[in-house]
Amino acid sequence: MKATCWMGKKHVEVRDVPDPQILNQTDAIVRITSTAICGSDLHLYNGFVQPMMKGDVLGHEFMGEVVEVGRRVQTLKVGDRVVVPFTIACGNCWQCRHDNWSLCENSNPNGALAEKALGHAASGAFGYSHLTGGFAGGQAEFARVPFADVGPLKIENGFSDEQVLFLSDILPTGYMGAEMCDITPGDTVAVWGCGPVGLFAIMSAYLLGAERVIAIDRLDYRLEMARKCRAETVNYETVESVSETLIEMTAGRGPDACIDAVGLEAHGHGPAYLYDRTKQAVGLETDRPIALREAITACRNGGTISVIGVYGGLVDKFPLGTIMNRSLTIKAGQCHVHRYMRPLLERIQNREIDPTLVITHRLPLSDAAKGYDIFLNKEDNCEKVVLHT
Ligand SMILES: [Zn+2]
Ligand SMILES: [Zn+2]
Repeated sequence: MKATCWMGKKHVEVRDVPDPQILNQTDAIVRITSTAICGSDLHLYNGFVQPMMKGDVLGHEFMGEVVEVGRRVQTLKVGDRVVVPFTIACGNCWQCRHDNWSLCENSNPNGALAEKALGHAASGAFGYSHLTGGFAGGQAEFARVPFADVGPLKIENGFSDEQVLFLSDILPTGYMGAEMCDITPGDTVAVWGCGPVGLFAIMSAYLLGAERVIAIDRLDYRLEMARKCRAETVNYETVESVSETLIEMTAGRGPDACIDAVGLEAHGHGPAYLYDRTKQAVGLETDRPIALREAITACRNGGTISVIGVYGGLVDKFPLGTIMNRSLTIKAGQCHVHRYMRPLLERIQNREIDPTLVITHRLPLSDAAKGYDIFLNKEDNCEKVVLHT
């Protein structure tokens, strides 16, 4: 089959690789019809999330048709159309039973490696480095899906691929980012990053009752998309201080909750950005927490910071004193996708949310390398690239 392979830093290639096989009798093989490139794929592309090996198949947002099932698969059959969550979960362990699917204790075969890096292991994930199990991803013609009775969501009712594809990651991720803010009526929520996850966080914050959402980015076309989602916007390159601007916009108090939908490759300007870029480049910190620091500083006393941007390791100049003295709460997590797929499918069905709004580019799978390049360089007002097979 054809698959998008990581071949080194800033180098992906669509190559011929062996077809996936059923390895466990609870696996299914899915013929992929649509897949997407995610902002977190760019962290792999840029070499920030490790370890990767030459030839690893990328992609964790995909859907398609079941073409083979193991003997013990009970709920899926050949011909079913499914969206596959990016995290892999067994459905039986303590964390799965507590609805914390991205923390599944049974799905990451490289748990020992993750424990060394993180203290405890998180779940397996498709196409997302060997720290999450080294599973082959879905920017390919076929994928092996473990625990097929647990993860994949069957799609009926004639939805198009593009309407439901993002249930695999970015829609639930944005939604969970807003949910972690514990929004009450009248709240103002600020969202750093107007990429696809940021946009879904904005839409979700309104769905969950926010009165105002303020979005922060530097790219005008992305801020324009945020305004289409009813957000007020701040271009951080045009203001002296984002925190001060937000405090001013909220009558001196600061936003009730702040969502970091940026993560470890944050941009910025001035000495702080230079500091983080340099330290990251020489390996003295792994992540650039520029958006996170701003979110913490801007948040009102007693407010919540919700972190859904991806971080890999260690950050510098983390304002713990601010968090402690101002009673801030930080919530974070890789999305527990399984928890949100069904309720969000209902919201799509009820036309409360239209995931297709974020798509700007559609390419054939064979052009995946071009897709990575366009997305990385934000060419042609790129927001989200979907690959069709
Ligand atoms: Zn993703
Ligand atoms: Zn589990």
